[in-house]
Amino acid sequence: MSECTHNCSSCSHSCSTKSKQDFLEPINAKSSIKHVIGVVSGKGGVGKSMVTSTLATLMQRAGYKVGILDADITGPSIPKAFGVNADVEGDDDGMIPPQSSTGIKIMSVNLLLPDVTAPVVWRGPVIAGTVKQFWSGTVWGDLDYLFVDCPPGTGDVPLTVFQSIPLDGIVIVSSPQELVSMIVEKAANMAKMMDVDVIGLVENMSYVKCPDCDKIIKIFGESHIEQIAEKYGYPLLAKMPIDPTLASLVDAGRIEDMRVDYLENAVEVLKTVKNIK
Ligand code: ADP
Repeated sequence: MSECTHNCSSCSHSCSTKSKQDFLEPINAKSSIKHVIGVVSGKGGVGKSMVTSTLATLMQRAGYKVGILDADITGPSIPKAFGVNADVEGDDDGMIPPQSSTGIKIMSVNLLLPDVTAPVVWRGPVIAGTVKQFWSGTVWGDLDYLFVDCPPGTGDVPLTVFQSIPLDGIVIVSSPQELVSMIVEKAANMAKMMDVDVIGLVENMSYVKCPDCDKIIKIFGESHIEQIAEKYGYPLLAKMPIDPTLASLVDAGRIEDMRVDYLENAVEVLKTVKNIK
């Protein structure tokens, strides 16, 4: 094992004297971002990208300058939701993120691959390196909010996001199943360990409303999100139903046309998030 050089910026060892700042990647020189918000989930498929896309759309609509860093490298779904398929161009300053129809800047591995159906069969460190590049190698310009659609779980890549990008806070997305509730606690505990603020919880797929009789059907059973929110002292930002109109807007690449207000409260909370930098 190599000896400690006491130079934390160039050393790959994780030791107790290393501070949070020592792990941070520098931001791209031509970028100035007021708030960086991570959207995380303990497990895939709960609607993390849906919540990221919807929050970004609503913040942009509220007049903020918004970007999305799609850090879900092996399951990138942000470009599809926004109908963006332009190639990423570059100049001496870095990669120029393509923009959605309302002007949201997007960086995703799917915008770099020649074929969007090509699987990303990369080892963890390569994936983690890509996430860092999306942060420091993208010319984000001036943004009020950058949303980071994090990879699910608590593995290598989410850890890289937590360590190398200066998140002002995270939104944890879950769905009502028992299993997911347990896994959301893992994500919450990881945030605690990594000293990252939790802005709040969003429960997605909470219920579905019958289009004929308005009856509420809880497909995944009773929710435990209130208890989890109380246990950890996190605000419950929203309970979002399964809404087929949202699914079809994502499929059509037109999420920015959505007109539902499930995440209005979350938007109000995001407007008050403090800058940690
Ligand atoms: P994750 O990012 O957690 O893997 P996604 O956001 O990609 O999950 O969602 C998985 C699928 O479920 C997508 O097809 C998405 O359009 C759909 N979906 C997610 N949330 C909802 C919702 N509230 N209503 C309808 N469809 C949804």
